[in-house]
Amino acid sequence: MTPFKQLFIDGAMAPAHGADDLPVTDSFTEETFASYRSASLADVDAAVAAARRAFAGWAATPPMERVAAVRRIAAAVREQSEALTTAISREVGMPRKLAARIQVGAPIAAWDMYADLAVAFEWESRIGHSLVQQVATGVVACITPWNYPLHQITGKIAPALLAGCTVVLKPSELAPTSAFLLAEAVRQAGLPAGVFNLVHGTGAEVGEALVRHPDVDMVSFTGSTRAGRHIAAIAGDGIKRVALELGGKSAALVLPGADLAAAVKTTLAGCMLNSGQTCSATTRLLVPRTWLGAAEAAAADLLAALRMGDPADGATRLGPLISKAQQRKVEGLIAEALAAGARTLGSPPELPPHGYFVRPTVLADVTPGMAVARDEVFGPVLVLIGYDEVEDGIALANGTDYGLAAAVWGPVDAATLAVARRLRAGQVDINGAPFNPAAPFGGFKQSGIGRENGRYGIDEFVEPVSIQLPA
Ligand code: NAD
Repeated sequence: MTPFKQLFIDGAMAPAHGADDLPVTDSFTEETFASYRSASLADVDAAVAAARRAFAGWAATPPMERVAAVRRIAAAVREQSEALTTAISREVGMPRKLAARIQVGAPIAAWDMYADLAVAFEWESRIGHSLVQQVATGVVACITPWNYPLHQITGKIAPALLAGCTVVLKPSELAPTSAFLLAEAVRQAGLPAGVFNLVHGTGAEVGEALVRHPDVDMVSFTGSTRAGRHIAAIAGDGIKRVALELGGKSAALVLPGADLAAAVKTTLAGCMLNSGQTCSATTRLLVPRTWLGAAEAAAADLLAALRMGDPADGATRLGPLISKAQQRKVEGLIAEALAAGARTLGSPPELPPHGYFVRPTVLADVTPGMAVARDEVFGPVLVLIGYDEVEDGIALANGTDYGLAAAVWGPVDAATLAVARRLRAGQVDINGAPFNPAAPFGGFKQSGIGRENGRYGIDEFVEPVSIQLPA
């Protein structure tokens, strides 16, 4: 077992003084493969104090020097690619080949993308006799989840550092290794002491201590809507700025005239990616009622090919879920839907002998009121719902408490684009168009506040300040 006992505070690895040793579990073998000590409240104070001391100097550093520092981090993170892929694949359970590309390759490229965007960023502009500067917000607490650990850390830390903020990162207690390896990369990159700090621990203790800390100016949080609501309330009390990337229940709306086979295939693949543990996954497939039979048959056919197994095995398409608790929660939601009259389609592949697996599940005869159609499941579960008129389809797509992502399938014409424009989601894909890391990402309603990715990610960490110049 590898012990990770170190935090990163004020430019150096530091011992953790918390009471708990937290386990890191391999979600396939169910074995603990590492453990690490959580931070104490005094460690949190030390990390925030270091970030506060470093802030004025880092914010005053010319943006191009910050860009150079971020490029050094990017290069050092790239050196860790193999170790990152191994750790994330074991922690999260994503098949290794996929994890190398999506969990590691894409975030490493994003460090350089943010650096390029910071070069082009308008740090200062003129509006009449006013000079408008984009000024760093301050000390930022970055709190991240486990499902795409390096991606979510990168989406906060890279733009925050480029903006001139100093940070304290609290990664998910279930998938802490990426953050540990990132701290090593920051050390190698030689950033000024205190600009980046890392504390480990649970959300309730270490995360909340950061959110409450009077010297934290902003909280950038990605995670569940439940925790986001709690964090926003605490931050509201302190008038702290918040950015919240929360849950989703995204719809794929198939319009008459769409390529149904392509729509079912892409929606199912997106829903099952990372075993359904993707916030923007399209988990509701909405089709014209007369197409339900064809959609059911297409989905059932595809299910059998989703081979489950060892994430290290190149033939595995679907890995386990992150934890026993998540496995039980997802199984419970499926059982509840079946008891309420839903029906499973096809014959999903066999369960491996160990690991936190849930069979990939497509549910038909689902009514919009069922929990499985309304709430985020965060497992490999797709629901299929029929609609009558296009207006009904749009109403169904928009009819949840969330608004993170959506997809529209239809003829490539103005009518399909018009439907896409009416969906209340931060990111809408037409006919399976791929993810664009430079485009804004974030939610309406209970899916959050603010936007990440591209230059919108940098915008989150700056405050516009106007200086009126004399005539
Ligand atoms: P979670 O809310 O349980 O935890 C997320 C992080 O918040 C962890 O680091 C946790 O320790 C911390 N935390 C929990 N309670 C806290 C509190 N009271 N105060 C401070 N910190 C606290 O979420 P999770 O289970 O790790 O991740 C899954 C959730 O994240 C899903 O709901 C998913 O939709 C969401 N998510 C959203 C996005 C997005 O971009 N919108 C991306 C990925 C995941």
